[in-house]
Amino acid sequence: AEGDHLLSVEDADAYYGQSHILRDLSIHVEEGEVCALLGRNGAGKTTTLRSIAGARPPDVRDGVIRFKGSDITDYSTEDVSSLGISLVPEERRVFPNLSVEENLHLSDVARNWSNTFGREVSMEHAGMSDEEVYEVFPRLEERRSQKAGTLSGGEQQMLAIARSLKQDTDLLMLDEPYEGLAPQIIETVEAAIEQIADAGTTILLVEQNAVAAMNIADRAYVIDQGEVVFAGDSEELRADEQTREKYLGV
Ligand code: ATP
Repeated sequence: AEGDHLLSVEDADAYYGQSHILRDLSIHVEEGEVCALLGRNGAGKTTTLRSIAGARPPDVRDGVIRFKGSDITDYSTEDVSSLGISLVPEERRVFPNLSVEENLHLSDVARNWSNTFGREVSMEHAGMSDEEVYEVFPRLEERRSQKAGTLSGGEQQMLAIARSLKQDTDLLMLDEPYEGLAPQIIETVEAAIEQIADAGTTILLVEQNAVAAMNIADRAYVIDQGEVVFAGDSEELRADEQTREKYLGV
């Protein structure tokens, strides 16, 4: 039954103004899996993540998005995030003039701030400790007092992911985590994502780098012009030369 999925997007139609981007799009994510959303530039992958995260635009005019059984279609980003969904956007959004450590502690600050204003946010929503985060990303510990703006692209990506681990996250959505990274750094980020998944966080990943994504994903969707054109195990996609060539160019 639909209710059994951790996340489901059911027949969603999303728009930017008049422009119809997601067309009757349905995907689901199971608890504990790594799921990849693949497809060409402009296929609608980021739009899908933004729709789930409550980021507007896009405007979701039709369909239902459910998380842990709740209809979250019209939730704000704040409400989606307090349910345990975290989005690491493509443009990595670290605070360049703050140190690595200060960046990591920003979510604590936000939580205290929210408490001050009486929102129901408590320390129960705290995610990993600094020590746990640094276990996933030892590189960040070495650089804990360095200004985030002076980190390499790969290190900034690690910091952006690390920040989301400081919140209690059940579903981590990563938008192109490998973008602009050298192969060696991709391996580091890949290993970290696997470690996060092994620790029990479900992952929904958007990637241009289909080969790298298939390495770590249990399942994949291929999206083209806002429609799902393939859904299946990574193994199936690897074997499906026609889909790979037509929509992924690999
Ligand atoms: P990419 O890998 O290039 O980011 P994508 O699959 O993530 O591709 P989306 O960012 O979801 O693609 O974009 C889907 C379509 O929506 C594109 O045609 C894009 O131009 C359009 N689009 C995205 N953001 C907006 C916006 N704010 N206003 C209008 N159109 C937009």
